[in-house]
Amino acid sequence: GTLDINRRDEIGQLAKSFQTMVHKLDENDRIRKEFISDVSHDFQSPLLNIKGYAELLMNSDLAEQERTSYAKVIQNETERLSSLTKQLLLLTSLDQLTAPLEVKLFRLDVQLKEIIRRNRWLLEEKGMSLTMDIDEVEFRGDPAFLEKVWENLLSNALKYTENDGLIDIDLVKEKDHAVISFRDNGIGIEDKELTRVFDRFYRADDSRTQEIGGTGLGLSIVQQVVRLHGGMVEVVSNKGIGTTFVVKLPTM
Ligand code: ADP
Repeated sequence: GTLDINRRDEIGQLAKSFQTMVHKLDENDRIRKEFISDVSHDFQSPLLNIKGYAELLMNSDLAEQERTSYAKVIQNETERLSSLTKQLLLLTSLDQLTAPLEVKLFRLDVQLKEIIRRNRWLLEEKGMSLTMDIDEVEFRGDPAFLEKVWENLLSNALKYTENDGLIDIDLVKEKDHAVISFRDNGIGIEDKELTRVFDRFYRADDSRTQEIGGTGLGLSIVQQVVRLHGGMVEVVSNKGIGTTFVVKLPTM
């Protein structure tokens, strides 16, 4: 009678929630596997380059110029490995909240300009133009973490924009906020992927298929650090036209 029906209902519901759970687990599993394969690839390719160029360097009759250029590859690849490792460690520490903010009073505009200066050679290498409009802003926050935010946003704008593209960086001082925006005219992000780009390990289809290197960790670090400062980050994008990330940080 009714009992049986209820039973069947319960079992039906149980089966359904198992299905949802398994689906979620599958999805997590898929994301994790993809992540491991991305990270392995990210470690593997610089390691192979280092090994290859180190072998070339052992050849004694190299011209001075060749030797320097091989050594430079090794240096760059080592830096890539080190930044990847740092990114993974930073994310872990943000995660476990073992890294409380070290708050200091500093000039946000000076920090932004310094990061732009540091990346000049990359911009030049890609033939990119950069415009900026930067207000003077005194800010209370963790400079080391915030530096990571600007670095990640700038490196994305560079990575996901074709050669000769445009990047615009603005810092606007509002009454009780600092508004920082990074705009590019790069590959853009599909609407349906927009909400997911801040997810850990998430990479839009294009970035994977076009084999642009990355881990999908950069924007989740951006979001976590901004949130830890009581701020928020938003993205606006048009496929094939460009992307703008806007960070809003409270200044009081
Ligand atoms: P990563 O760049 O290492 O893949 P991120 O977390 O920094 O990871 O970014 C997640 C994804 O968001 C990227 O893989 C890319 O698909 C997309 N994305 C981020 N920034 C941009 C941008 N400026 N233009 C287009 N796509 C972007």
